[in-house]
Amino acid sequence: MSRNPRYDVLFEPVKIGPVTSSNRFYAVPHAAGMTNSMPHMRAAFRGTKAEGGWGVVCTGYVSIDPGSDDAPLPYATLWDDEDVRSHALMTEAVHRHGALAGIELWHGGGSVMNRLSRLPTMSPSGTSWMATHVNFMGNQRPRAMDADDIRSLLAQQSAAARRARQAGFDIVYVYAGMGYLPYEFLLPEWNLRTDAYGGSLANRARIVRELLEVTHEAVAGKCAVALRISLEELRARPSEVAPSQAHEVVELLRDLPDLWDVKMDSSPTDCPPSRFAPEGSHEPVIDFVKKLTARPVVGVGRFTSPDTMVSQVRRGVLDLIGAARPSIADPFLPRKIDEGREAEIRECIGCNICISSWHDSVPVRCTQNPTIGEEWRRGWHPEQIPRAARAASVLVVGAGAAGLECALTLGRRGYEVTVAEAADDIGGRLRFETRLPGLGAWNRVVDWRRGQLERLTNVSIYRGNRLSADEVLELRNHYVVIATGSRWARLLYSPLEVPTGSLEAPGVLTPDDLAQGAPVADPVVVYDFDNYYMGGVLAEHLASGGHSVSYVTPAGHASAWTIMSNEQPQVHRALFSAGVTLHTLSRVSAFAGGTVTLANQFTNAQVELPCRSLVIVGARFANDGLHRELAARAGEVAAAGIRSVTRIGDALAPGAIVHAVYSGHRYARELEAAPGELAFRRDAPLARLVSGTP
Ligand code: ADP
Ligand code: SF4
Repeated sequence: MSRNPRYDVLFEPVKIGPVTSSNRFYAVPHAAGMTNSMPHMRAAFRGTKAEGGWGVVCTGYVSIDPGSDDAPLPYATLWDDEDVRSHALMTEAVHRHGALAGIELWHGGGSVMNRLSRLPTMSPSGTSWMATHVNFMGNQRPRAMDADDIRSLLAQQSAAARRARQAGFDIVYVYAGMGYLPYEFLLPEWNLRTDAYGGSLANRARIVRELLEVTHEAVAGKCAVALRISLEELRARPSEVAPSQAHEVVELLRDLPDLWDVKMDSSPTDCPPSRFAPEGSHEPVIDFVKKLTARPVVGVGRFTSPDTMVSQVRRGVLDLIGAARPSIADPFLPRKIDEGREAEIRECIGCNICISSWHDSVPVRCTQNPTIGEEWRRGWHPEQIPRAARAASVLVVGAGAAGLECALTLGRRGYEVTVAEAADDIGGRLRFETRLPGLGAWNRVVDWRRGQLERLTNVSIYRGNRLSADEVLELRNHYVVIATGSRWARLLYSPLEVPTGSLEAPGVLTPDDLAQGAPVADPVVVYDFDNYYMGGVLAEHLASGGHSVSYVTPAGHASAWTIMSNEQPQVHRALFSAGVTLHTLSRVSAFAGGTVTLANQFTNAQVELPCRSLVIVGARFANDGLHRELAARAGEVAAAGIRSVTRIGDALAPGAIVHAVYSGHRYARELEAAPGELAFRRDAPLARLVSGTP
């Protein structure tokens, strides 16, 4: 197939200072958990994007000095020449495919805690950053920077830029965004300085100007110098000489950077979940930049539609289509557009599991793309998969995320695959969940696999087929995969977090009951200790359906875990605006006669709420009955020629969709692999043990 001429504009080269990107696809800097401690994994991960057609591929954030230490969050370093070798692996991997490599040099200023280096932290005037995410909280408050600190900062940036050039990077960043040090200079509430770096906006932007200048000097015209800047706060501030302070700062620095990389100020607004923000949500903040500078502009917006990308370019919003999440969900997105295969793009669903991996300090995970982060350690390529060594048939029971991913990957390997699904349509739990407020985009998990499966003649799907153990035996496949999902439980827990048994009473419901259309009587209480999206989204759903809803949780926040996926602020906003009453730090201790009793999690003080339907969103158990029955009939299984019966996804261990997809993919990759091929390789840092002067 050939490219649709409508998308030709996306494949035009873009000159960025002294270097040229071969197209407009720009994989922006984003943390991915693979730092200098996992240099081979990092190189393969970024190299795969280059192979997939991104004209530019950047690193995650890279600290320029031990005084900017984000531990335990996974940040990279370029502190000394040892680090150069580590990054060179990545630039080589990226260059191998003809892409440019970019590096985001970073100083965290007052936002870091220097837990590893134990050096005092610093900010422009000693003002600290306000952390609302527990992972970023700490007890270290910054010192006010003096003139020596400013000189050192410039020297550190300059030295890091020289090393970046040595490591083979083509684009070197100055990073003035998201609460980090140069950004702190830009805002007068942080920057109370009375010297040349404080006061007027020209003074507050001076450090950014000087960082750009020293970077230009250090790379000596061999690399482009990019400025990454957050404009949300500045755009909201009036200016006496421009429409806003964001306009003013762009005018001040206009053509000094070779590239403007423009973004929002906080992670939840910069990288919002699809539940609360559409594709292209940055545009109202960054739309003006291109009008004020002759330099190319890159920005993000969870762009997955080539038509939206073309519109961004044609309307003069962006020159380069930036992507973090879409490049994770599909590293081959540009190549697919180039080859007229845009229908095959595995679109990001905007769930932000990838961000949660960074908050968890582990290599990036993705709901849509199970191969991400596994390119080197497991040898998983997102587009290529080894053919099966011999012909065999596989029965997959259940067509949820796990069963679908498993069937697709097995089909690609060439196995003869039969999928049996009890319901009238595929999708499993997503059939219901994607109808909940804001979760429509998650249907891409099902739709993409549906589209891909339709192309495979060796995979047959039978809907409306609930298989019994007898039927599984009769079908006589070589392998049987049980992907029958999970069910929500009615379990309650004590203050010591110990299960206290099931609450079986009229009016007690679970999300499964709601999915099956069980009637709900008002007032409703949603009791959530699952802590991910389900409790919050059900409360919102019921309230928007006209029910009177209270939301109860033993945690301190609604949907407490969603702080990890950048959703929690918006979850709270959504619940408040839907009129849901929140009871945090509260446990359900009894439910009878139209009343639920709540106990304070710490004092045990009791309050009663009127309640006729109690929806418990907590524990889940695997639907593993079929698996257990087949295990008990091992003799008959062997006699039927079945070599193995394996549980995957929620039927093995209930989790999020990301776990189900990964589990299904791993089974399919590893089927009939030699035993030695199953373990993953462990990566190790390149740095020598002795470094620095004791
Ligand atoms: P996962 O996330 O692990 O894929 P889901 O709950 O989303 O789990 O999907 C499990 C699917 O399995 C559901 O669509 C359910 O209808 C189906 N299923 C459960 N038991 C059977 C069975 N015995 N035969 C066929 N399909 C089944
Ligand atoms: Fe997109 Fe979710 Fe994958 Fe992140 S984890 S890239 S948000 S699909």
